Amino acid sequence: MSRFLSDRFASLEAYVPGEQPQDMQYIKLNTNESPYPPSPSVRRRLMDGEIEALQLYPNPDYTRLRQLLADACGVGRENILLGNGSDEVLSMAFLAFCDGTHGAVFPDVTYGFYPVFARLYGIPFREQPLREDFTVDPADYMKNDAMVVLANPNAPTGLSLPLETVEAILRANPDRVVVVDEAYVDFGGVSAAPLTAKYDNLLVVQTFSKSRSMAGARLGFGVACRCLIEDLEKMRYSINPYNINRLTAAAGEAALEDAAYYQDNCRRIMQTREDTARAMAAMGFTLTRSQGNFLFARHPKTGGGELYQALRDRGVLVRWFNRPRTADWLRITVGTPEQMDALLQTLKQILEG
Ligand code: PMP
Repeated sequence: MSRFLSDRFASLEAYVPGEQPQDMQYIKLNTNESPYPPSPSVRRRLMDGEIEALQLYPNPDYTRLRQLLADACGVGRENILLGNGSDEVLSMAFLAFCDGTHGAVFPDVTYGFYPVFARLYGIPFREQPLREDFTVDPADYMKNDAMVVLANPNAPTGLSLPLETVEAILRANPDRVVVVDEAYVDFGGVSAAPLTAKYDNLLVVQTFSKSRSMAGARLGFGVACRCLIEDLEKMRYSINPYNINRLTAAAGEAALEDAAYYQDNCRRIMQTREDTARAMAAMGFTLTRSQGNFLFARHPKTGGGELYQALRDRGVLVRWFNRPRTADWLRITVGTPEQMDALLQTLKQILEG
């Protein structure tokens, strides 16, 4: 029992992030980071002057970074909101658009932070069961009075919804916000960002943590119509107008100026994903058709927890979600081809042993 924590948080269960172990060097395939470093231009930009400017607060409007993002997304600067990681954008969305009577709805198997935000802010929520094969039944989201939150592609399944379905859900919910979390969209998905020009209830959320190799810098963003962004800016200016530090903002700008470097990395990661999926299928694994930078797989001969532990004992770290529908499965981040070869060798050893 805490002596000081407010009663309203007594039963709050905080989000549990994937391990960042310090005890030894693992082949780290557990938190969907990029296996490739940021573009060399990011390093140059940080060294060339940004460090000297650290005594000054950043420009809370982040004009240049937002303009570059707007150009990349084909929208205006007024349509972009920055977050300290996309988690912060999601957090601001739950805070701004939900309350004790306006709840949220999302799939039962999805990003584990959504229910945490809902509980943190005292928001009623419904976890809508995915179909048996982990696909979304669009009908589940057609009639409700809650904010809809869909990761597309979904995590940890990697499965994506076609844009026509996203659009149908937007049309069916004109009076509620629909959040489309596109953390993994750059690995083969199609962004709904252009639909923000047509639907004032759409908030698209993206991140620099995966495809842009900047998980450690913490940078995410939202794309939406001007009115939604103004609502979210009200939250941002009420929490921390300087939510993006100078180094991260500069790194983000440099990354956006070297788009070709990141597109190349994404192509490589998608190729490695397909090669690894094929090799794992040949070993007897069942896999979803992931469109993220991770695979979601299970083996008929071993439970998820057992396989997770056996891999960990041999220096390979993956993610296991010990919940009813996912306990047989592992989520494995796509690393370099060399890392995936090591994973496959280790899996072979375990399964043959
Ligand atoms: N959305 C999804 C679906 C994710 O898997 C993650 C990564 N854990 C995030 C959002 C948050 O990423 P970040 O805060 O690093 O941008």
